[in-house]
This record gives sequence, structure tokens and C-alpha cells, in this order.
Amino acid sequence: MPPEAKRLAMFTIFANATFTLVANYRLEHSERTSYLHVLREKLRAGNYFEDNQKLSQLSITDPLTNIANRRHFDTVFPLRWQETLEKGNYLGLMMIDIDHFKAYNDHYGHLQGDHCLRQVARAMQVNSRNEGDLVVRYGGEEFVVLMSNATPEAASLAAERFRYSVEALQIPHHGNPDRGIVTASVGTAVLRPTELLTPADLLAYADLALYEAKRQGRNKIWVASVNKMP
Ligand code: GH3
Ligand code: MG
Ligand code: MG
Repeated sequence: MPPEAKRLAMFTIFANATFTLVANYRLEHSERTSYLHVLREKLRAGNYFEDNQKLSQLSITDPLTNIANRRHFDTVFPLRWQETLEKGNYLGLMMIDIDHFKAYNDHYGHLQGDHCLRQVARAMQVNSRNEGDLVVRYGGEEFVVLMSNATPEAASLAAERFRYSVEALQIPHHGNPDRGIVTASVGTAVLRPTELLTPADLLAYADLALYEAKRQGRNKIWVASVNKMP
């Protein structure tokens, strides 16, 4: 081959190789960039989802005790009511109020009071049925437990279990004249929802039952089976 033609051929081969290399590099670079872009978008979407989950969890949790808060109860209560009405089951509501808690705070201080509330909340949680019960810090030193499908007998046993679980903590309470330890009174109301009743009725009956438990001398339970009432 003449040297001219040889040079031309080599140049052509070299140019072709360079072109292919550059084109491949560009193609791969653009594929990598778009892959990274998609990956970043996926991560971002995942983070938003997790952040949202955390936020909604926070919005229904009581920050002091880490159990459900009143807002969550206000959402769940009417839903459970409707479900129970449709199934024709019982619905129980328990109100638990720590006895002489103002005196506890006055004597041991607010921080110790907070610690006590956390211990009581934990006892409530441990003594609840995982599926059927919703344990809530209703406000201050009051807790409620919403009990799905709990007969009056079962609700009565549960009330005693909750009362005893607070007593069993054996937290010294200088200002509790009767026992010298922290105790709680428990009022429970159970009914089969009907079209003539509302969730507010169940709440009012549980509140009355709590009042009665206090009147009976505190560290007591009182159970009102509403449908049997005159
Ligand atoms: P009773 O036996 O009739 O229930 O008397 P009590 O003293 O428990 O009831 P009262 O309603 O007079 O007092 C409730 C107290 O609960 C008053 C308040 O200082 C205390 N309390 C409410 N919320 C909190 C809280 O978040 N932390 C602490 N440490 N105390 C609280
Ligand atoms: Mg109270
Ligand atoms: Mg109280």
C-alpha cells in the first residue's frame, strides 16, 4: 500500500475509534446522570413519606406519657361507636383518675408529678389488650380506655385490673390520707350502642361512674351497665 493510503487508513481507524469512545462516554454519562436523578427523586419521596408518617404519629401522641392523646381519642371514638353499632356488640369506656394528685404535686413537685404520670400511663398500657383497647391520656391526671367488644363482666374485671395496677406500683404519696401510696379511681360504663344513644352519652355515664367511685372513698371501681338502667 502506498504510504499516503496507509496514513489515510490509519487516520480513519483512529478517528473512528475516538468517535466511538466519545459517543459511548457521552451515552453512559447521560444514562448515569438520569439514573442518579431518579434515585435522588426516589429518596426524596421516601423521606417525605417517612417525615409525614412521623408527623402524623406525633400529632396523635401525648408527649409526656407517649400514649395516645385526646385528639386521637376524639377521632377514634365515633368510628368505634359506629362499628360497634353495626355489629351489635358492647362498647366500654373506662375513666381513670389519680387520687389526690394535686397534693402529690404540692408535696413532691411538678417534675416528680410528671414522672408519676408516666409510670401510671405505662401501667395502663401494660394492662390493656393490644387489639381491643385504646389507652388515652385524656387530660391532666385522667386517662380513658376505650374497650371494643367488652361485656359488662369483662369491663368490670378490666377496671379492677387497672385499679390494682396503679396500687401495685407502690409509689409513696404522703398526701394520700388513706393509703400513703398513689391510687386511682376507676369509673366504667358499658353499653350496646343504639340509634337513640350517642358517644357523648357513654362518656357522660363513664364520668358519672368515676364520680361514684370517688364518692365511695377513692381507690375504688364503679361500673355502670347502661342498657340495664331504667
Ligand atoms: P381527686 O382525688 O378528687 O381526683 O383529687 P385531685 O387532687 O387528683 O384532683 P384535682 O383536679 O384537684 O387535681 C388535679 C391535679 O393534677 C392538679 C394538677 O396540678 C395536676 N396535673 C394536671 N396535669 C398535670 C401534668 O401534666 N403534670 C403534673 N405534674 N401534674 C398535673
Ligand atoms: Mg381529675
Ligand atoms: Mg385526681
